[in-house]
Amino acid sequence: MAKKDKYGSQDLKLEFPNDEACLEVMFDGLHTRQCSCGGTYSQLKGRRQFQCSKCRFQIAPQIGTIFEKSCTPLTLWFQALLMFSNAKSGLSAKFLERELNVTYKTAWRMLSLIRKALGQDDRPLSGTVEMDETYFGGKGNGGKYNKNFKKVMADKSAIIGAIERGGNARIKKVPNIQAHTLGNFLNQNVEVAGTRLLTDESNRYGLVAKGYNRETVGHGRKEYVRGDVHVNSVESFWSHIKRSIKGTHKVVSKKHLQSYLDGFAWHRNNRHNDRERFSSLLGILLHA
Ligand SMILES: [Zn+2]
Repeated sequence: MAKKDKYGSQDLKLEFPNDEACLEVMFDGLHTRQCSCGGTYSQLKGRRQFQCSKCRFQIAPQIGTIFEKSCTPLTLWFQALLMFSNAKSGLSAKFLERELNVTYKTAWRMLSLIRKALGQDDRPLSGTVEMDETYFGGKGNGGKYNKNFKKVMADKSAIIGAIERGGNARIKKVPNIQAHTLGNFLNQNVEVAGTRLLTDESNRYGLVAKGYNRETVGHGRKEYVRGDVHVNSVESFWSHIKRSIKGTHKVVSKKHLQSYLDGFAWHRNNRHNDRERFSSLLGILLHA
């Protein structure tokens, strides 16, 4: 018996042995079985259609979803969804290509559709919230004394992240990490009332975080934790993402970085149960 919170490819094959089984769960994700006429919908044999037992009205659940125009069998799609869902350090198109035995182009397209559908919700974070900024990508470090500082930094992407303790993470690629950008991020993502905002001592926060109950740790003075005041959750999330990108994807272009970040945020925010995460991903794609 597999562990209760684990869900792997064997479980998937048992639950969804064929496209008909996939269509059943897709139908239920989008429609109710009860027709307004009092009849009940069921799948027509050998067709991607459901029909009402009384009024004979037909519904094709894949219409209008990202699965509609795809010639890839639904069982393969489901396998891709599960692999993506279980790959906490990311999933490369190259790996998916080999595992599903599809072309690279198909694998790449599947992953890109999945990532594009994810996004991040815009419910403001509240409670105790850690916030921090970092740079991704490019080559080399932008140390203060590097004579190529400008060039090195131009290749990097600025990222702002916030994590609600015991709750969700939010990460956004931003044009820079100047004060007004931090302010915009706060406005859009972090509730003012009642929030305890934890950051480092950066004076960029001084003006823009004025309404917040803010507590800081002084990284400059080598202070990283003071009681429960720290930004360790967001910093370890940065290193997880950086390690994963390096290990799995090698490089991610600036253009696609946000959708990869959405993927990492989604994984973190749905980290507890494999089956639930798979269902949540399927639900997101059905409604994308
Ligand atoms: Zn009906």
